[in-house]
This record gives sequence, structure tokens and C-alpha cells, in this order.
Amino acid sequence: SWPVELKSVSVTYPNGTKALQDVSLRIEPGEMVSIVGLSGSGKSTLIRTINGLVQATDGTVTVGPHEITGLSGRRLREARGHIGMIFQGFNLAERTDVFHNVLVGRFAHSSPFRTLLGLPTKADRELALRALDSVGMLEKVWARANALSGGQKQRVAIARALTQQPSIMLADEPVASLDPPTAHGVMRDLRRINGERGLTVLINIHLMDLARQYTTRMIGLRDGAVVYDGPAGAATDAD
Ligand code: ADP
Ligand code: ADP
Repeated sequence: SWPVELKSVSVTYPNGTKALQDVSLRIEPGEMVSIVGLSGSGKSTLIRTINGLVQATDGTVTVGPHEITGLSGRRLREARGHIGMIFQGFNLAERTDVFHNVLVGRFAHSSPFRTLLGLPTKADRELALRALDSVGMLEKVWARANALSGGQKQRVAIARALTQQPSIMLADEPVASLDPPTAHGVMRDLRRINGERGLTVLINIHLMDLARQYTTRMIGLRDGAVVYDGPAGAATDAD
């Protein structure tokens, strides 16, 4: 499990929008952190800066042994191979079965050639089945993604990320499109994965109640700046 460190990170998009302004923070290995804030406050940009999808305009981003700032090509892919990602929209191959959706995580960050030629080994298959078991989706292994509910799809996406054996897990609004009971279930899964594996988990979430309930540390953003960083349980909406 890896730490994350941002030092004086600013992000200005090409159109001039200042999405992050002088953000500094350190997340220790095994922490369960929520990033909260209104729409447009910079949550998604923060996550994308950590996985290298967005380059910091200023400052440095370090994830485990990798200084992400300035990495590109093969070296960025290699670093990303250790970063599990979960998205609001699940990003599954809809007509493909659960098993193969999950196995994609094994190859997602290797070269296009390896993805094409990379026949799963026995170890890959076991990893995939184990990940599905850990999110309670083993019995759906042969179902097509498009036959699953939203909550089930998100669990498959979590299993896909786990199959990569990540050192850190980033989730960008993972429950935003789910109904409340389902959202609680997915948050509970993430919390359990954090607890059982000691995996560092960072979750963008605009729902304060869920952030308070399922994470231990909360980072509040407003207009691209950190305005709260402390215990999740103690944070009030005013923070
Ligand atoms: P959040 O995830 O909290 O909604 P974002 O990080 O998506 O916030 O957005 C922060 C700010 O940056 C917003 O003003 C948004 O409109 C802007 N923004 C996000 N992505 C881009 C982009 N690709 N190009 C220009 N502006 C962007
Ligand atoms: P440890 O306590 O050392 O993590 P485990 O038996 O839990 O031992 O895990 C052994 C390896 O398998 C670790 O690298 C772990 O990341 C991986 N692993 C554990 N559970 C799963 C799972 N459900 N899906 C994918 N990989 C897993």
C-alpha cells in the first residue's frame, strides 16, 4: 500500500480555468480518505492529477515510489498499473461477461500488444475470481455486464481494479449514480477492502453523510483550494 503526496499543486486548464490552487497534502498508506466539495470545486481534477490523466501546472505529485509529475508513455503506464481506478459510469464492456470484464484489469496498463496477446494465466483467473468473491459477485461471473444492476456493475468495476493488485485505489464519484441503499453497499465494500488489505483508498464524493460514515479522513475543497482536512466524523456541512 502506497502513500500519496502533493506539494503546492496547481492545475490551470488550457482555457484558463484554475481548477486546483496550491494544494498540499499527504495521505499515508492504508488511509481511507474522502474528498468532498461542491460540483466544480476540483475533486475530479485532484484525482486525475494523482493518476496522471491531468498534468499539474505547478508543484509535484508523488504516488508511492513514482513522481507522477513529468512521467509519460511507458513509465506513466507502469505507475498507473499500481493505481486502481473506479468511475461513476463503471466503464464496463457492456456486452462482455463479468469474468472477462474483470480480467481486463490484469492487462489494462500493459501495451496494446500485450492486451491483445495476453491470454490469462491460471494465476490471472484465480485473481479475478477472488476479486469477484470479495465483492460478492462470484455467482454473476458469466452474466453479461448489461444484465447487471448499477450496484452490481460498480462491484464488478471494483473487482476489476482489485485484479490489478493495486497499491492505491482512486474512486471518482463511485456512488453518484446509485440509489441510497446501493450506494451504502458499495461504500461498505470499499471500506472493507481498505480494512482487510490495508489498501490506501481515496474517494471523491459529494454526499457528506456517506463520506462521514465510511471514511476516516475528509479533505474539503472549495474553488480548487483545501478548506478542510481532518477527521471525517467531525466535519460539518459548514466546513
Ligand atoms: P468537481 O469534480 O469538484 O466537480 P472538477 O475538477 O471537475 O470539479 O472541475 C474543477 C473546475 O475545472 C470547474 O470549474 C470545471 O468546470 C473545470 N474543468 C474541469 N475539467 C476541465 C477541462 N478539461 N477543461 C477546462 N476546464 C475544466
Ligand atoms: P495478505 O494478507 O498478504 O494480503 P492475502 O492472502 O490477503 O495475503 O493476499 C495475497 C495476495 O493476493 C496479495 O497480493 C493480495 O493483494 C492479493 N489478493 C487478496 N485478495 C484478493 C482479491 N480478492 N482479489 C485479488 N487479489 C487479491
